[in-house]
Amino acid sequence: MNKRVAILGSTGSIGSNALEVIEHLGPPYRATALSAHRQTDKLIQQVQRYRPEAVTLTDDSASPDVIDKLRQLDTTIYTGMAGLTEMVRQNNVDIVLAAIVGAAGLPAVLAAVQAGKTLALANKEALVVAGCLLIPEARRRNVTILPVDSEHSAVFQARLCGRASEVRRVILTASGGPFRNATTLQLEHATLQDALRHPTWQMGSKITIDSATMFNKALEIIEACWLFDLPPENVEVVIHPESIVHSLVEFVDGSVMAQLSPPDMRTPIQYALTYPDRLPGITRKLDITKSFTLHFEPPDLERFAALRLAYDVARAGGTMGAVMNAANEAAVAAFISGNISFMEISRLVESTMNDHRLQQAPSLDDLLGADRWARLNVQSLIEQKTVALRAHR
Ligand code: MG
Repeated sequence: MNKRVAILGSTGSIGSNALEVIEHLGPPYRATALSAHRQTDKLIQQVQRYRPEAVTLTDDSASPDVIDKLRQLDTTIYTGMAGLTEMVRQNNVDIVLAAIVGAAGLPAVLAAVQAGKTLALANKEALVVAGCLLIPEARRRNVTILPVDSEHSAVFQARLCGRASEVRRVILTASGGPFRNATTLQLEHATLQDALRHPTWQMGSKITIDSATMFNKALEIIEACWLFDLPPENVEVVIHPESIVHSLVEFVDGSVMAQLSPPDMRTPIQYALTYPDRLPGITRKLDITKSFTLHFEPPDLERFAALRLAYDVARAGGTMGAVMNAANEAAVAAFISGNISFMEISRLVESTMNDHRLQQAPSLDDLLGADRWARLNVQSLIEQKTVALRAHR
């Protein structure tokens, strides 16, 4: 089988790790197509090193200078999101590793499935927003979706110990993020620097903030429902601060299977690329010559509203996933630019979900429309608050 990989979002944390994994694996594994948004210098370095046949600059405003440099490297250049979908459809791509953060990655993910490419999915938002389109399309075209998210990779692996019908529930582990033990008062005053200090994982800023609010786990609950065809009540979350058990599957007989490894994204990335094979890896191995302890505790739904909202979304279906995700993206951006407090992120998402008129069985346009509406709604809620605060003074 050919193993030519397109990495969408190659300059991000998952993308760079994927390139390392592919370099380690060697032929037939090859990165034949890369894409980047703003980090064009890094993309040029990657093209010099890995010599892909094609690249996409998804940001339309890329400078002529950058395009010139890429041209000299003898690679086909695509631009914009339309260019990205065109690149994934090409014949020199067998596997699409979707690692673009946020709803922006969705059209290319859909295009990959429609073109019958194997999908290694790191972009959890694609399923949260458009699982109702992606999953049926993948089934129709017999496309395999291999999860790259560490929790879902763990579930995928543990589930191979039985039949799908024998699964009683899935238990997703969560590190708890930097605020696992924070009081509500501390959460009210949490700064951006506090939120960016993740205890176990090194990741991009959006996902690190999502770990602090637990919206990352919220997205993962919804992702698990779609990937493993489970009702929301069969997907549970347990706090596990060491991030060594990446998730568990309980079967009907009461046996629980788990996947363990030190926290390193290169492990699930490699498995998604080599599945159904396992090949020697480059990551640090679990060391059991020294004693260590693993902790598990139930999550606090009071302090972390995101988890409660995830179950609401999974039960509602339709456009609600798109709304929750877009509202969260807009609120996180507002928090990063210092316009709202940490706790306001989940409040804005919840208000926006309450304001939303749910549409069942949406089209892609309906989903993108719900996404746009939710972002505008968050903006107007923030503006109303600012106006109210000014009047108060
Ligand atoms: Mg994860």
